[in-house]
Amino acid sequence: MALIVQKYGGSSVADAESIRRVARRIADTRRAGNEVVVVVSAMGDTTDELVDLAKEVVPFPAGRELDMLLTAGERISMSLLAMAIKELGFEARSYTGSQAGMATDARHGSARIVEVNPTRIREAIDSGAVAIVAGFQGFNRGTGDITTLGRGGSDTTAVALAAALNAEVCEIYTDVDGVYTADPRIVPSARKLSRITSEEMLELAAAGAKVLYIRAVEYARRHGVTIHVRSSFNNNEGTLVINPGDGESMEEAMISGIAVDLGEAKITIVGVPDIPGKAAEIFTLVATAESNIDMIVQNVSAAETGLTDISFTLPKADGEKVMAILLAEQEKIGFDSLQFDDQIAKLALVGAGMRTSSGISAKLFTALFEAGVNIEMISTSEIRISVVTRADLVEDAVKAIHTAFGLDGEELAVVHAGTGR
Ligand code: ADP
Ligand code: ASP
Ligand code: MG
Repeated sequence: MALIVQKYGGSSVADAESIRRVARRIADTRRAGNEVVVVVSAMGDTTDELVDLAKEVVPFPAGRELDMLLTAGERISMSLLAMAIKELGFEARSYTGSQAGMATDARHGSARIVEVNPTRIREAIDSGAVAIVAGFQGFNRGTGDITTLGRGGSDTTAVALAAALNAEVCEIYTDVDGVYTADPRIVPSARKLSRITSEEMLELAAAGAKVLYIRAVEYARRHGVTIHVRSSFNNNEGTLVINPGDGESMEEAMISGIAVDLGEAKITIVGVPDIPGKAAEIFTLVATAESNIDMIVQNVSAAETGLTDISFTLPKADGEKVMAILLAEQEKIGFDSLQFDDQIAKLALVGAGMRTSSGISAKLFTALFEAGVNIEMISTSEIRISVVTRADLVEDAVKAIHTAFGLDGEELAVVHAGTGR
């Protein structure tokens, strides 16, 4: 008997009919002789709607209370799903993150899993029941409070449970058939990958391909969990994420995919004295905001003034906070002014084959030039090239690059549901 962890995303359980459809899938998996642990997200766009609601009440909701509110979303879907499975004649019980033993640190809104004690889940499956676990939530032992793992965190819940229960596979069910060479909502000619290395998946996830949450990929890589991303709307094989040491030999494609991130903004600090210590001063200050700073570019300073400009990208949501922190120290750091730009997009080209091929950046920049897209920032890793462009041009940019690297498939990709929110 195999133990399978199945995670169903919000778009797969958006309404009553979808919940019944997912219940039938779970019943089929049981009938095939498997033990099943299910992790479920909140229905449809519930989490976004709850965030909006909280912000209507107060501009900056307290972290503890926001977590309390958001975790309610998963309680709704988990209990409804358990009801639907019982209706099909299988025993099923739902569990909150704390009941499932997901212990986290105390960081509200972005808690990290510190330990998983799935005693009750074990008991449930040993007794022949399907265990349904609320995704994206846990609890902190010290404070006794409920926490959330960050947006998209149900993927991490699923992988962590799969690791703790030694599951055969962690299936991530979503509204597309797997991991594609680009977001099929932006590039309809994107191709489904049958396999991808966890290394490449990490880069794509970090660069905004939200089909898998980066921390879930990290966790799976560290604990040797096999992830299978697939659609809850058909029985097609999806994409396997291959960990190092899985014994699978992979022909390395030069490029595995392109990711786009519209959630970032750019801050430019204009006229910074070009002397040792200034970058340290600035980024020590910025670090107090606990924001995830990404691309950093420092210009060559103008010889006449000895002043330089420093730009960096960060999540849009942190923009206001970081701007305020910098402005408060303007005199001490000695810069001229600050610019905030939230009309940018970050685009990343990812492929393990980049290591051994040359001319990739030339081809990328040529494709952007031919599409009439200006590059504002560039950064690279061993297997990734990222550029910042104007947000309204990024769709043209990603399509042009997709074609230039020969990634277009023969048929159009299908997006089964979801609003892309
Ligand atoms: P879920 O509700 O199942 O968690 P998400 O919305 O979080 O679903 O993730 C699925 C979505 O990820 C797809 O609908 C698609 O628009 C988007 N996506 C972005 N990049 C990719 C990619 N490379 N391959 C597949 N889907 C992608
Ligand atoms: N419901 C949460 C979110 O929308 C967690 C998840 O779906 O993974 O971010
Ligand atoms: Mg998701």
